[in-house]
Amino acid sequence: MGDAAMPPLPEQPKEQPKEQPKERPPGTYMIWAMEAIGATMAFLYYLHLHTDLLKPAVKERLNPEKYTPFTLIDKQPLTSDTTRFRFRINRPRFDDDLEELVDGITAQGIWSMDVKDHLVQTYRTYTPVAIAISEAVDEELGSREGYIDFVVKRYPHGSLSRFLHETRVGDQVEMRGPLLTWPYHPKQYKHLYMVAGGTGIAPMYQLITRILRDPADSTTRISLLYGSRSESDIIYRESLDKLAQDHGDRLSITYLVDRGPAASVQIAIPDFSTVGKFTRDFNKGGSDLVLVCGPDPMLAAVCGSKPIGAGQGPLRGILHELGFSSAQVFKF
Ligand SMILES: Cc1cc2nc3c(=O)[nH]c(=O)nc-3n(C[C@H](O)[C@H](O)[C@H](O)COP(=O)(O)OP(=O)(O)OC[C@H]3O[C@@H](n4cnc5c(N)ncnc54)[C@H](O)[C@@H]3O)c2cc1C
Repeated sequence: MGDAAMPPLPEQPKEQPKEQPKERPPGTYMIWAMEAIGATMAFLYYLHLHTDLLKPAVKERLNPEKYTPFTLIDKQPLTSDTTRFRFRINRPRFDDDLEELVDGITAQGIWSMDVKDHLVQTYRTYTPVAIAISEAVDEELGSREGYIDFVVKRYPHGSLSRFLHETRVGDQVEMRGPLLTWPYHPKQYKHLYMVAGGTGIAPMYQLITRILRDPADSTTRISLLYGSRSESDIIYRESLDKLAQDHGDRLSITYLVDRGPAASVQIAIPDFSTVGKFTRDFNKGGSDLVLVCGPDPMLAAVCGSKPIGAGQGPLRGILHELGFSSAQVFKF
């Protein structure tokens, strides 16, 4: 083989000098760690400020779907057999679905709560006379505290009313609600005529305070005929008088008592004469309504009994005799 000219060898790439891994400046990992901690802290602070995810679940919240225990925080006797019970309620500082559900029900009208005797598993319905929630937020619990008040008469053989009267401050009682008792919206009626007896004042009181506080309901007028056994049995007299004084053009109250002494009230019962006089300006062709709530004998005499469960039953009694129709009367 003759010497053939060898093709030139391809030029070998020159070996690059290997880059030495750069040394991080001292403290880099520490800085990264600090930054990560800072970001986490900022995120947690954001969650703390804008959500309740880091808080324990708020207890003693109103819930219409399940019985919840509430703590009795105050108990004030109002008359010989009637007591005002105040229970603590809480509300998370940020509204969630449950708050919306609760607000949606209370916005619809007069509402009540089912109160349970957990010992014998029976319940009765009571209409709160007041509910309040503080503006102040408990930062630790992420909630706002408030209360709900009931005025309850004790019946000597009553099951739930005796159970409630036997509870002591600090005890817990299970309740479910709010539950809509009577739908009402502002300006639905021009003039409401309320006939109440004893603790039958509860739904009337809730409605009166609701109407008088609501700027959207500023034209509705209310007349209350309120019967009690004696002057010292008139429940919430001071508050009612104050409301009548502050809203003299819209709320007028006539107190009746079965027996004297009676310094500033009439000794009479809600009979044909007193109810007739009370409702004489009722506009039967307009949008006025009579509301009645009280003990069974009073209901029977004024408008006919209300059957147990749903329904109003036929209109009977004094209001029927006075020419009212069923549509012009609501029995609580
Ligand atoms: C929507 C609604 C709201 C109510 N709100 C209130 C309220 O705010 N405050 C309040 O005190 N009550 C209220 N009641 C009545 C309450 O629910 C109970 O019926 C009442 O407390 C008696 O229950 P009890 O278990 O103690 O008596 P029960 O064991 O049911 O009855 C025992 C005895 O008491 C008598 N009795 C029961 N209720 C009455 C009555 N109204 N009048 C006369 N005798 C009676 C019975 O005839 C029986 O002899 C409300 C009822 C309804 C439907």
